[in-house]
Amino acid sequence: MTAEPALLLIDAGGTIASVPDDHGVLVGREGSAGLTAALPPVPYRLTERQAYAGLSEDMALADALRIADMVAVAEREGLAGVVVAHGTDTMEDVAFLIDLLHPGAIPVVFTGAQRAPGAPGADGMANLLDALAVAAHPAARGIGSAIVFGGRILSAPVAMKLDSSGPEAFGPQGAAIGRVDEYGVRLELLPRRRPPFDPVTPEPEVEIVALGLGSGGRQVDLLVQAGVRGIVVQGFGRGNVPGEVLPALERAKAAGVLLGIATHCIGGGTAPSYASGAALARLGAVPAGLLSARKLRLLLAVALGDGRPAAEAERLARDWLAPQA
Ligand code: ASP
Repeated sequence: MTAEPALLLIDAGGTIASVPDDHGVLVGREGSAGLTAALPPVPYRLTERQAYAGLSEDMALADALRIADMVAVAEREGLAGVVVAHGTDTMEDVAFLIDLLHPGAIPVVFTGAQRAPGAPGADGMANLLDALAVAAHPAARGIGSAIVFGGRILSAPVAMKLDSSGPEAFGPQGAAIGRVDEYGVRLELLPRRRPPFDPVTPEPEVEIVALGLGSGGRQVDLLVQAGVRGIVVQGFGRGNVPGEVLPALERAKAAGVLLGIATHCIGGGTAPSYASGAALARLGAVPAGLLSARKLRLLLAVALGDGRPAAEAERLARDWLAPQA
């Protein structure tokens, strides 16, 4: 008889572990969610640990690093995989941060719920069973960090919450590397992971400036005055910005701030195709490529981590983003 795969189940709060308050508003649970006890019998040896209690909108980098530490221990202990039950709001951020830092082969599978336990159509347990099946699957070795939600398996660099209320919350659907349902796991693609970073404390002083019609440079100037070390601009289209913003970004660069440029578009990525994008490229802004602004922010935070100078961080971030041969 083959041994049951040993998995670590990390309780990291979120809707999957939430409870309604006296007014019916969902609030984070204080103690453990007791996820293992809520599951039907499963063919895995589960160890449950709590990394965070509460809603994921309140999480900090330190909470994400606690998850990274637990993953590292699971790898050292030779477990088959890790499942992280997490709030959906910042799941893509934490999953990506783990992907940047996880050097091992064991899969780290994030999941959660859009509907609270006990609500009609609650999706948490179905997602959790799917995530456990993926984490235990031999073909999942080497996928890095992934989000399994509503039957889709999405690798962390591309996964995004695209629906704030429905059960198929994460996409883009066409970017799924596989599917999971009651018949099992079908993992069709293996993501080409970039080399992970050495363990590091990410720089918290990296902010995102989201632009709209007629935006000027005031937010950028205020952030530089406040002493940020990195700014990611979420521009339009291919990473274009109003010309009015450029002088402020030049001032930020001169002040030693590491710049990044991303787009609000879900697909297509950035390119210096237009005048403002080309000006940003000349300024040395790190282009997000296919990463979202939120993920580029985390990449810059890791690159700037442990107090690394902006020039070195820029090189590290560009190396990570470079197209793979
Ligand atoms: N606000 C919740 C959270 O991210 C949403 C969820 O978990 O679905 O924790």
